[in-house]
Amino acid sequence: MSQPILFLVDDRPRVLEALSGDLGRRFGVDHRIVTEASPTTALTALERLAEASEEVALVVAGQRMVELPGVDLLVRAHELHPGAKRVLLVGRREWTSTNPAVRAMTLGQIDTYLFEPWLPVARFLYLPISQVLADWVPGQGRAFEGIRIVGPRLGSRSHELRDMLTRMGIPHGWYSAGSAAGRRLLEEAGEDGAELPVVVFHSGQVFVDPSDAELLAALGFGTRPAADSYDLVIVGAGPAGLAAAVYAASEGLDTLVVEPQVPGGQAGASSMIRNYLGFPRGVGGGDLANRALEQAWLFGANLVLAQQATGLRVDGRRRLVRLSDGSEVAAEAVVVASGIAWRRLGVPRLEALVGAGVFYGAAGAEAKALEGQQVFVVGGGNSAGQAALHLARYAASVTLVVRGADLAASMSDYLIQEIEEAPNLAVRLRTEVVDGLGGRSLEGLRLRDKADGSTEEVRAAALFVMIGGEPRTEWLAGVARDDRGYILTGHDLLGPDGPPAGWPHQRPPLLLETSIPGVFAAGDVRHRSVKRVASAVGEGAVAVQLVHQYLGRQ
Ligand SMILES: Cc1cc2nc3c(=O)[nH]c(=O)nc-3n(C[C@H](O)[C@H](O)[C@H](O)COP(=O)(O)OP(=O)(O)OC[C@H]3O[C@@H](n4cnc5c(N)ncnc54)[C@H](O)[C@@H]3O)c2cc1C
Repeated sequence: MSQPILFLVDDRPRVLEALSGDLGRRFGVDHRIVTEASPTTALTALERLAEASEEVALVVAGQRMVELPGVDLLVRAHELHPGAKRVLLVGRREWTSTNPAVRAMTLGQIDTYLFEPWLPVARFLYLPISQVLADWVPGQGRAFEGIRIVGPRLGSRSHELRDMLTRMGIPHGWYSAGSAAGRRLLEEAGEDGAELPVVVFHSGQVFVDPSDAELLAALGFGTRPAADSYDLVIVGAGPAGLAAAVYAASEGLDTLVVEPQVPGGQAGASSMIRNYLGFPRGVGGGDLANRALEQAWLFGANLVLAQQATGLRVDGRRRLVRLSDGSEVAAEAVVVASGIAWRRLGVPRLEALVGAGVFYGAAGAEAKALEGQQVFVVGGGNSAGQAALHLARYAASVTLVVRGADLAASMSDYLIQEIEEAPNLAVRLRTEVVDGLGGRSLEGLRLRDKADGSTEEVRAAALFVMIGGEPRTEWLAGVARDDRGYILTGHDLLGPDGPPAGWPHQRPPLLLETSIPGVFAAGDVRHRSVKRVASAVGEGAVAVQLVHQYLGRQ
């Protein structure tokens, strides 16, 4: 088979020659470099390569090449070679927040960009190209699968297992039990398929309908605490909990982290986080979580998966956290970082496009990049209304999709009035989003009219899902919370007469301390928290400082 192709398009011969030379020196042994000097000849060449079933790993195009009218180079290149990564070459001097590359990145229409000049070469050419090539999956032949799952065609357990492995970044494959490959795998594993799913490890280990704990233990994760008592127990391994674990363990606290699922929390479910400091090209949520997890481990934190905190009680100086297996673990201090559970749309094609045109939560950073685009917001609450108004300042049109028959039932009157007055903002009542269109970035939506069941396809560059969420605090009966269940901390606990009833100290609660001394809350679970990865990480770090202060170890 011929080598995968790095395809370069630019109409400036010297740029093309320099780029091809620099890439050839690093990647030339394993790749073939093809250059074209215009979008038209590039498309003809890409068509020929597609006909010949040649694999194009990436297409690098100069910015002028994608702006020329009449030739939509990157769109057509994607149609011809859906797996190829798309890279835009942009001048440093022309770079502004309104540069089309910013929008293309936000909406997932390109995979990365290269600055011109790309100096120093190692950092600005070899690093970004190596990263996109590492993510590139050859279309021909099956990629390596460390774990293979054989399941029924419609099985939610198989789906859960695949989701878990995907989030942990473990390469795996799924085979229908009815397919020839599925039957062959079952036979090799010595199973008759009466009980499914069957999970086959590369090492030969076989599990029949395994629990999460069984699989995680087989993958080398702890599912039971290594000790009965710790300095600090952290509940939840999302960004806040993982940050707290890194700081606590690195600062000498004997630390346990308890997580019922896989590490990463909500952030782990996001295919691309673009606004986290230090990752200008974005970072996959799972990747970020796995890096943080490794860091916490290296510093010595004890991480326990497939365990959930189900209760908390005070016994003198000790705080006791009950776990889902019925055991209790003692700590001198606790950081609650159990986050929130957003309601999800549950449309698989849209879930796959999170970060590539589909966004959960407020439309902050993305709004500007949506200038001139058609944008949809799902939800009928105040936050959805506010997001729609904010987006309408930039987008060509914004449509608010609401399941109910009346906005007044869920949205404040002043927002409804502002929405009515916005010329480019429409409301579709009694409507549901039932499917998404587009391969690697959102291109459209399928909407269903709940009144008559009819469906319609609409073009959409972005979809913001704001259908509400709930803090995961149902297990914290003794901790003061607001009327929506978010944990009150620090100043928010103070009434006109000072600390809340039952507060045992002269001092007021510390900044992130809850109504139980020595129990802190960090991240989304906290009353009035900023729902962002960076703020959750920041709060996790601050909580550890407060733990030191509480323990008198500063
Ligand atoms: C799809 C999506 C995309 C997003 N994209 C971005 C983005 O691009 N940029 C950005 O800044 N923010 C983004 N956010 C928001 C961001 O992910 C959250 O603000 C952040 O994850 C909050 O971190 P956290 O640690 O406070 O809580 P969470 O991430 O919610 O983590 C909480 C963890 O606690 C665990 N847990 C829950 N209950 C218990 C219990 N009883 N015992 C033990 N553990 C428990 C959960 O399983 C979870 O792992 C996104 C959110 C979503 C849903």
